[in-house]
Amino acid sequence: MPIRRLSPLLVNQIAAGEVVERPASVVKELVENAIDAEATRIRIEIDRGGHERIEVVDDGNGIDREELPLALESHATSKIVEPSDLDGVSTMGFRGEALASIASVSRVVIRSRARNADEASLIEGEGDRREGPRPAAGPVGTSVAVHQLFGRVPARRKFLKSEAAEMRRISRIVQRLSMSHPDIAFTLVSNGRTTLELQARSSTRKRVLDVMGPELDEQMLDLDVSRDGVRLWGLVGLPEVARPTSQHQQIYLNGRPISDRSISHALREAYRGLIEPSRHPTAVLFLQVEPTRVDVNVHPAKTEVRFRDDRLVHSVVRRGILECLEAADLTPNLGVSPQVETPGSRRLFGAGGSGAAGRGGSGHVSNTFDRSEGRGPRGFEMDEARRVAQDMAQVPPAIPSPVPSAPVLQVHKTFLVTEDERGLVIIDQHALHERVMFERLLARVESGPLPSQRLLVPEVIDADTSHFEGLDRLEPLMARLGLEATPSGPRTIALHAVPVLLFERGVSGAAFFRDLLERAGEGDLLIADQEEALREVLDMMACKAAVKAGDQLTARELADLIEMRESIERSSNCPHGRPTSLRLSMEDLERQFGRR
Ligand code: ADP
Ligand code: MG
Repeated sequence: MPIRRLSPLLVNQIAAGEVVERPASVVKELVENAIDAEATRIRIEIDRGGHERIEVVDDGNGIDREELPLALESHATSKIVEPSDLDGVSTMGFRGEALASIASVSRVVIRSRARNADEASLIEGEGDRREGPRPAAGPVGTSVAVHQLFGRVPARRKFLKSEAAEMRRISRIVQRLSMSHPDIAFTLVSNGRTTLELQARSSTRKRVLDVMGPELDEQMLDLDVSRDGVRLWGLVGLPEVARPTSQHQQIYLNGRPISDRSISHALREAYRGLIEPSRHPTAVLFLQVEPTRVDVNVHPAKTEVRFRDDRLVHSVVRRGILECLEAADLTPNLGVSPQVETPGSRRLFGAGGSGAAGRGGSGHVSNTFDRSEGRGPRGFEMDEARRVAQDMAQVPPAIPSPVPSAPVLQVHKTFLVTEDERGLVIIDQHALHERVMFERLLARVESGPLPSQRLLVPEVIDADTSHFEGLDRLEPLMARLGLEATPSGPRTIALHAVPVLLFERGVSGAAFFRDLLERAGEGDLLIADQEEALREVLDMMACKAAVKAGDQLTARELADLIEMRESIERSSNCPHGRPTSLRLSMEDLERQFGRR
């Protein structure tokens, strides 16, 4: 075939492939246009999941009659003029191709009235056919109706999901856009029924709670930090409101919703050890960066961006959230609801029943966080906690620690009960010891390899191919972990040295190492990310070396453990993210005993 110039229609249809993937992307483009037009109310009407009709009505600035044909033309925009404008785009749109692309794959009707115009005008476009503009009735603002999306491109129409699935996506995108524009009222209507109604709000926090659920109010922390020209603000959820999917995670750059792997990673890092790895933190993050320091023009739908300095952004996000969480008291409060008498408190002390008191359990015991007094008792900086931990080489520490102010009671060789300034604290001895040890190991390994104990006689481990593979993969980490091992035969590996910690805690080095080889061999460890893998191994070590439920602790050990709880950041959760301690506040106790 000879080379030919594509017709404008075909060009637009090709562009449409990138910009308008599905009904939700049309909704996104139309709502963004309404936002750019300074609307205060935006109404989105959807028929049959958007297959049939998508209509977005706003009360914004409108479009002059003479300009209406241009709105439907590709590469026509009112938002940028010259190349240098691309360096500082502050509007949601700027590419000038959305409406043209949409019209190339559907029938579009725009009715608009500019603020200073006496009447509205209407233009219709379908493929390369245009009709209008002609006078019409209508209020100031714009409505854009999209009929029969992909009606002209049957191949694309086939790819649309069920109406319900498309509607879910639409709903999600409207929610996302609404959170960065709390001052705009949004209404979403599906098949004539209102499914989302958001009134204008004076703060982002209020809007986010409207969208995510007002019950999260107590569990969402406010965040606002700035560093080197990067501002990060928004709301981050306490660990207990982490979700099984990343649905409740929203990231915005200069008001525009984006997805960015590096920022998501930084967010996950900040919650490391506070939530279980399979769960996702709840967070709405707004990044404000000089427009010149970010390229928003790398993705047709503008959902991905490129930062000039993505390391800085990563670090601001990670540290900012980390500090915010550190400043909060994360020990879950065992709030006992007032109507309930003994059953609630009996449960606390583990008298049979279903064990842990969690939300959604009996309803008698709610696992709410009590943050009414602001900062928690641990005012330590992470680094200081690390240094403290580092000083204590042994478990339990050899240095006599000061006599603790609060008495400690070991209950059924499993839980420790003590007090702090807010009330009664119940600790899971294994979980806390594991957390303390993990932090200590982490601090140690950052300042050099873990102290290692050479074995007089190497321990020989039976090994299969997967163990050998594991050995290969672990190789780069072994020295730092205080481990030394070599293949000693076709089916054996000799273990020459183990970390002092395991040795001292009486943990079988061979059994531990075999487990480790197995996990590494099966690809269970994220060896590609060495720091991540290192933490996982330390986590395994801490778990192995920690006291277990059923271990009787001496008075000294009890005291030391309580001491450690105070000095270690994030002691509220074990490395797997489960809580290490729970608190029953004085208020709750007083209420229970009828003192209030
Ligand atoms: P872009 O938003 O990238 O400029 P679009 O194709 O989405 O490109 O829109 C083209 C132009 O049409 C916009 O630049 C704007 O001037 C005008 N326009 C589109 N929608 C609206 C609206 N809801 N209100 C006012 N003007 C609009
Ligand atoms: Mg646009």
